[in-house]
Amino acid sequence: MRCPYCFRDEDRVVDSRTVDDGDAVRRRRECLACGRRFTTFEKVAEDTKIVVLKRRGARESFDREKVAQGMRAALKNRPFSDSEIDALAADVEEEIRSFKEEVTSQEIGQIVLRRLFEVDEVGYMRFASVYKGFERLQDFTEEASFVSPAVLEKREDDRDVGE
Ligand SMILES: [Zn+2]
Repeated sequence: MRCPYCFRDEDRVVDSRTVDDGDAVRRRRECLACGRRFTTFEKVAEDTKIVVLKRRGARESFDREKVAQGMRAALKNRPFSDSEIDALAADVEEEIRSFKEEVTSQEIGQIVLRRLFEVDEVGYMRFASVYKGFERLQDFTEEASFVSPAVLEKREDDRDVGE
């Protein structure tokens, strides 16, 4: 998203909420170049249907509510409102839309995992343990390796600010 102040287009989302009964997402963004914050309203695109390819060749249409349910379970008792979780699910849908019209359920799981990793460690672990059938602590540390170094760096920054 292009920064309205310095016109660079690298930013991070600091807060997301659904508005208009879930038809749009309001995002608070922080420009990575100049550090200023701005707000965007994005309509959730619903023109193209995404096809989910299941195991054994079954196909079904993508259902954002299913993603939201999975995330709600992972974020149970964590500090996230329904609207924030719906926005996270909308992020997942948007990311899938940005690359293709067909997606495997496994790819959806990976995107959900990465999004959870960015916002909440506990939620991420819960989802990963169900999704991947994790049993040992080592499984979790190995799992973290798929996450891009940029995300890890960002998390380091956040920690510095918080302390
Ligand atoms: Zn900027």
